[in-house]
Amino acid sequence: MLSIIIPAYNEEENIRKTAGVLSSILTAEKLDYELIFVDDGSTDGTWREILMLSAEEDSAAAGSPIKGMRFSRNFGKEGAIFAGLRRAGGEAAVIIDCDLQHPPELIPEMVKFHRQGFEVVEAVKRTRGKEGLLYKLFAKLFYSAMKANSDIDLDKASDFKLLDRKVINALLDMPERLTFFRALSSWVGFNRTRLEFNVQKREKGKTKWSFRKLVKFALSNLTGFTYFPMQLMTFLSVIFMIFALGISVNTLVQYFHGVSAEGFTTVIILVLITGSVIMFGLGILGYYISKIYEEIKFRPRFIITQEAGFEENEQ
Ligand code: UDP
Ligand code: MG
Repeated sequence: MLSIIIPAYNEEENIRKTAGVLSSILTAEKLDYELIFVDDGSTDGTWREILMLSAEEDSAAAGSPIKGMRFSRNFGKEGAIFAGLRRAGGEAAVIIDCDLQHPPELIPEMVKFHRQGFEVVEAVKRTRGKEGLLYKLFAKLFYSAMKANSDIDLDKASDFKLLDRKVINALLDMPERLTFFRALSSWVGFNRTRLEFNVQKREKGKTKWSFRKLVKFALSNLTGFTYFPMQLMTFLSVIFMIFALGISVNTLVQYFHGVSAEGFTTVIILVLITGSVIMFGLGILGYYISKIYEEIKFRPRFIITQEAGFEENEQ
């Protein structure tokens, strides 16, 4: 069986359409499948739609191919993906967006590669679709920092992937909470291949990512996979040491010649510069410590309030 995992956050207008498109493609390919909708704490009618669909498709003999789970609040797409993976019953799973920006027609091709023995089939963006200039710049900056410092190439990567059962289990075995699915699924290795696709226009509604959410996401992933910000501090300190040595020698020489260095201006400037660099460093350290703290609290990644379509004994 193939499990399709669909994170959905305020997508009431898209659920029915997406389920329809996916079902018809998968049925045409004669694939045994289940659709797992993960409602990431939506505030609109997303859950109602999922429940209705699941009940409509329910047949006494085989149960419903449409399943759903609902988070108690918005935990983010990462949590939704992992929740879906945990409940996936298939020997492979495909993660796909709810807004049909990832073309579902690609799934049969992914399955073909899977049958040939590939354990991860990644769909990569041929073009990045319509994005603002600032967004593009920001994405570029983030991806190059990630690549230079962690060897994980994420440019053009997407969350649209097929994962074999082995890979799913490897991902589920990871104890960490602050996950970055795109990077982790590359980190685990396995026999992988890529497929290209063009990003489609969003079907209905608008993007769920605010600029603030994106910056937070990028920062957390950068620190999650690289030590680059901390190394930056060491680098800055070396430059400062050289600077300090030069000025100290200069000051001493002047002192022994009976001329003292120019009064307060120098002192004030030096104190301000060193002060701000030290605070900057403390900020970076603080950020890493807060991440450690968050991990060590061992809070669950998500809380599920309701489920639909799963067999009772599966839990
Ligand atoms: N999504 C989610 N939780 C969130 C934000 C988004 O589950 O907090 C889902 C959303 O419903 C969609 C997918 O993640 O299925 C991609 O989101 P979106 O289309 O808004 O992102 P974009 O395509 O603009 O990157
Ligand atoms: Mg989208």
